[in-house]
Amino acid sequence: MDIAFHGLAGLALSKALTGEYLPSAALFSMLPDLGAVPHFYHSVKNSSKISLKHFTGDYMGINYRGKFLSDFDRNIYWSTHSLFSLIPVSLIAFFIFGNIWWILSLSYLSHLIIDAFTHEHEASFHPLWPLSDWSISGKSYSSNKNVLFLSWFTLLVILLLQ
Ligand SMILES: [Zn+2]
Repeated sequence: MDIAFHGLAGLALSKALTGEYLPSAALFSMLPDLGAVPHFYHSVKNSSKISLKHFTGDYMGINYRGKFLSDFDRNIYWSTHSLFSLIPVSLIAFFIFGNIWWILSLSYLSHLIIDAFTHEHEASFHPLWPLSDWSISGKSYSSNKNVLFLSWFTLLVILLLQ
């Protein structure tokens, strides 16, 4: 899902677990998409600069296909979306944030679980990468409006009920 969705999902999770909205939970739930920065950078770089219309068409086309532009971009993305990334993330959370480390780790994990249902093709969830490239594929939120609508509707209902 998009970065705003993940941030709000982290807030909802922290509220459910602690009774408070923790900004740090929002931050940790968005962290895995740091691994998408090289892909977005290269998507922008490889999109036409003739006009905004051409740029938007190229950019959307690149991202609609669900394929990375290079192995480097893909490997960085899969690294931050692997269950193994939870180990350093949990250690960092523990040493910086102390006793709420497990909430922050769960926030990070929530991102991976949400993406498992809302990403497909090369951007699907690769939980055991780099040991295995086995993946769990959902339905892409960027090419399926029902997935986008249902996900946001569910999250907003949860937030309103808290
Ligand atoms: Zn993601």
